[in-house]
Amino acid sequence: MLTCKQVSKVLQNEDYENLSPLRRFLLMFHIKLCAVCGKFNRQVIDSQDMCCNFKRQEESLLEKEPPMDADRKDALKKLLSEQSGDSTLHRS
Ligand SMILES: [Zn+2]
Repeated sequence: MLTCKQVSKVLQNEDYENLSPLRRFLLMFHIKLCAVCGKFNRQVIDSQDMCCNFKRQEESLLEKEPPMDADRKDALKKLLSEQSGDSTLHRS
């Protein structure tokens, strides 16, 4: 059985999705049963999951749509920096 510390450490250092099936099972087992870290680590996994899904969705969107051309990107950057009053984008 894993300890709370081990579970948190693994989740901190690695993506839940990239773990081997056995480790994933052990982690989930602990999280389901543990009253101490279960709720917290469940949320960690959920948020990793959300990020993963978002990345995947973004990738599939990029495949369908061509990336924004450089001119439009620059115009957008300028607009954003003007609106936020932030000059970091001009400083390159
Ligand atoms: Zn625990």
